[in-house]
Amino acid sequence: MSDYPDTQLYIDGRWQNASDGRSIDVVNPATGLGIGAVAWAGRADLDAALAAAERGFALWSQTSAYERARIMRRAADLLRERAPAIGRIMTLEQGKPLAQAVAEAAAGADIIDWFAGEGQRAYGQVIPARAPDVLQMTVKLPVGPVAAFTPWNFPINQVVRKLSAALAAGCSIIVKAPEETPASPAELIRAFADAGLPAGVMNLVYGVPAEISEYLIAHPVIRKISFTGSTPVGKQLAALAGLHMKRATMELGGHAPVIIAGDADLDQAVALMAGSKFRNAGQVCVSPTRFLVETRLADDFTARFTEAAKAVRVGNGMDAGVDMGPLANERRIPALEALIADAVDRGARLTTGGRRIGNEGWFFEPTVLADVPVDARIMNEEPFGPVAVINRFDSLDAAIAEANRLPYGLAAYAFTRDSTTAARIGAEVRAGMTTINHLGLALPEVPFGGIGDSGYGTEGGSEALEAYLETRFVTRKI
Ligand code: NAD
Repeated sequence: MSDYPDTQLYIDGRWQNASDGRSIDVVNPATGLGIGAVAWAGRADLDAALAAAERGFALWSQTSAYERARIMRRAADLLRERAPAIGRIMTLEQGKPLAQAVAEAAAGADIIDWFAGEGQRAYGQVIPARAPDVLQMTVKLPVGPVAAFTPWNFPINQVVRKLSAALAAGCSIIVKAPEETPASPAELIRAFADAGLPAGVMNLVYGVPAEISEYLIAHPVIRKISFTGSTPVGKQLAALAGLHMKRATMELGGHAPVIIAGDADLDQAVALMAGSKFRNAGQVCVSPTRFLVETRLADDFTARFTEAAKAVRVGNGMDAGVDMGPLANERRIPALEALIADAVDRGARLTTGGRRIGNEGWFFEPTVLADVPVDARIMNEEPFGPVAVINRFDSLDAAIAEANRLPYGLAAYAFTRDSTTAARIGAEVRAGMTTINHLGLALPEVPFGGIGDSGYGTEGGSEALEAYLETRFVTRKI
């Protein structure tokens, strides 16, 4: 695997090893073998990154929005150009099929471009005054240095949303990127560095996640936190942010319901949902999980979805024709096995899958469980793997009640030909994002985020920039 690079820290405009020389191995999930190493930051490295981010903020917040956008667009062009090479690195460390990895890197460029433009439109307001000689207005100013924590499932996408919004707003940033998949996000950082982003504005570290988050969130230099990951960790970090009165965006877990009404286009529902469920081996926060199918279609849907699951070609993401790669890390295998065994013990029908594939790498069968009791763990905990659960319902009220049963509220999906049913689902399903009769989530220009236990704040659409801005009011007698 000579084409997989070791990953260094990027602090104050310099690529560097950890000051105490520590590093840990990176493993290819398709083989289980080590392919490289990533530097692990210690306290001295974090202090250097904090000092750099403080200086970087002083400089970048005074740089015009026009100039910021110019540098960001150059980084987007570099990322687009390099996407094929970066995709190879991502597949080696994360496992997803090469075409999906290349597409993720290229889509990152579109996100940068979109935020670059948005930063040029961070308008304040002039508010009509009560007296003719008073001018009162709001101005939008960058909140300050940001600490961002991102996971391994979309190594570039998860960083680029936070990084682009922060930079467009005029903030500096310290990114704690995933230790499991460090090299592809480092290439994103390299694109910005090569595009001329000044030293200190953007810093990249890896290490022990809990140690780094505790130190950075509490540190007075950091003014804003953004985290993507599991709900339990998100709650801890949100509490810490609250303790130190830091602004926070939390993009956490989900357990997406899919309502398939009796009048749905079954061909469309099966094709779109099977593609979506098994994408990235189900390791997606918006992955469709609880399929709620109206009784008259339930057997037909289950049979066809099971066939679609069996047809998924699982293999090394570097090989041509592969639809689904391995799980990204070994700990997901026992986690999935336990959830499936618990469901079957409680009476669920396993219509396909359920097991690890082979003993080299962390491959898992696309899995379908039908007629799953609601007290099964998998009906309540995010599986974060290639497992679909299919249950039936008799009335729309019952389907909406089941969709809303869990404290999560990230994505929801629905298929129906009836506009009244579609309108009710759009209005009554409690989710941050609902997509009906097509897959329309995660574009840069639309909101991306959850409600309830899925977190708060959005990482897409015009509101995403607000999370990195402070609104200040100024009133003046002329
Ligand atoms: P995990 O909860 O141990 O870690 C999830 C992510 O949070 C990892 O990137 C990890 O490095 C980071 N993390 C953990 N503790 C942290 C801390 N104290 N401070 C800062 N970062 C911390 O779980 P895992 O086994 O890596 O992944 C499985 C679970 O994570 C899934 O059930 C899923 O809910 C969640 N997850 C969600 C997303 C998402 O896109 N929302 C992505 C990856 C993982």
